[in-house]
Amino acid sequence: MATQVPSIKLASGYDMPLVGFGIWKVPNDTCADQVYNAIKLGYRHIDGAWDYTNSAEAGKGVRRAIEEGIIKREDIFITSKLWNNYHKREHALEQAKLENEAWGLGYLDLFLIHFPISLEFIPFDQIRYPCFWTDKEQTQVTPLSKVPIQETWQALEELVQSKVARSIGVSNFHTQLIYDVLSYNKVPLSVLQVEHHPYLTQPDLIAMAQENGIAVTGYSTFGPLSFLELGNADAQGVKPLFETDVVKGIAAKHGKSPGQILLRWCTQRNIIVIPKSNSVDRLKQNLSLFDFNLSEDEIKQISGLDIGLRFNNPATLGRPIRIF
Ligand code: NAP
Ligand code: NAD
Repeated sequence: MATQVPSIKLASGYDMPLVGFGIWKVPNDTCADQVYNAIKLGYRHIDGAWDYTNSAEAGKGVRRAIEEGIIKREDIFITSKLWNNYHKREHALEQAKLENEAWGLGYLDLFLIHFPISLEFIPFDQIRYPCFWTDKEQTQVTPLSKVPIQETWQALEELVQSKVARSIGVSNFHTQLIYDVLSYNKVPLSVLQVEHHPYLTQPDLIAMAQENGIAVTGYSTFGPLSFLELGNADAQGVKPLFETDVVKGIAAKHGKSPGQILLRWCTQRNIIVIPKSNSVDRLKQNLSLFDFNLSEDEIKQISGLDIGLRFNNPATLGRPIRIF
């Protein structure tokens, strides 16, 4: 029996499931199967992006589940994102079109501006390593491009008119930029996706978004774990969240895994989670979050681990980004 997951009503009027499967770093050769497995387990929300380079494979996994009658298209919520090199209006429209075709599902449920950083355009057939760098060795940085967020946001609004995307939003934005978008948007800003784990709780940002009717998705819920996979220097030597006394103690008390405790800490505060896992067992575990509740004090204790430690930090990731 597939697990039932509650949803959040977005400002656009559509429903978004509180738990999704995030597919960053899910290998291309296993992505279609893992997405299909996730759907069989009960996942109804997949978080992808142009930058993850596995949308075509993920779409194949979703289409298999549809062809086998496990779900219908309208039962599943697909998120994708606009990469930094495509912020100019015509590039944003083209990248979204290509991304929508890669998924092959007719439309995207949610399309986000991945970062409020505009990098120089790289033709779609020439981009080899869609990241902050133009080469695998991470030595050649991509120059910035002078495209204001307003132009990019308005391109996303066009995607809603043309039915490429049902809802739109932003990722890795802070309050000031959100207020700016709210000063000119005509289509609701439905979702803010940001790094969120007990070492980086950002309570003011989350409160501001939720108070303005913007649903919040937290990524990298397990903190350093995801970034250790990448060899990120900031994650080395950081105490794993799963091994802190607070998380271990609360997990033991509830008879749940530390991962489930961190995910429940989010969903109980109406924060959507999108844990990534290459293991089917952990996919299953990460969806099984709704048969227990943390007490207010337990939530407070977990939030008390905050040390303002950000792993996905463009200030260090892409430095030196230069304006040419
Ligand atoms: P994450 O989901 O917090 O962590 C994934 C890591 O946790 C993997 O090493 C995985 O290993 C492990 N893991 C998963 N479930 C576990 C469990 N129950 N117990 C113990 N370990 C577990 O990190 P993330 O991938 O950085 O963030 C989640 C998603 O957010 C991404 O996939 C992506 O969709 C999105 N995201 C968005 C942005 C953005 O800029 N908007 C940035 C980062 C991430 P195994 O695979 O071996 O299970
Ligand atoms: P995560 O916290 O979801 O995963 C961290 C690590 O935990 C992974 O290596 C995974 O293998 C492992 N893991 C997963 N479940 C586990 C379990 N039950 N037990 C033990 N280990 C487990 O971090 P993430 O992968 O960085 O992020 C998840 C998703 O968030 C991404 O796939 C992506 O969709 C999204 N994301 C978005 C952005 C953005 O800029 N918008 C940035 C990062 C991630």
